[in-house]
Amino acid sequence: MFFIFGMSTKEKELDFSQTTICPSCGAYGRLEAFMTYSYFSLFFIPILKWNRKYYIKSSCCGSLYAIDEELGRGIEAGRINKVDESDLHPINVNHRRRRICSNCNYITDEDFEYCPRCGNRLS
Ligand SMILES: [Zn+2]
Ligand SMILES: [Zn+2]
Repeated sequence: MFFIFGMSTKEKELDFSQTTICPSCGAYGRLEAFMTYSYFSLFFIPILKWNRKYYIKSSCCGSLYAIDEELGRGIEAGRINKVDESDLHPINVNHRRRRICSNCNYITDEDFEYCPRCGNRLS
């Protein structure tokens, strides 16, 4: 008897897209969902999946969040098409530096060297 078997980890994008104000960088961006799982295959056919983990990624700044498995399964099954900020557990969040103009108190997320409103140099 001869078996070909293997164990691998895979990443799968889920059919999920939510436009939102990004909780990390404040830009108007899109949240995408994907999952990773390990599987055991026999003769190249996956027969067992486990260790499913679900994630949300924001398209604007690439911030990564973990979400609960229950919520992830709901997204995978197409039952859930919206997540709340409170569902997101930050893993790798790209906070852009907020700059506040000392002259006119203008707040910007962009990497401006000078205030777009009054021209004051931002520190
Ligand atoms: Zn963002
Ligand atoms: Zn200013």
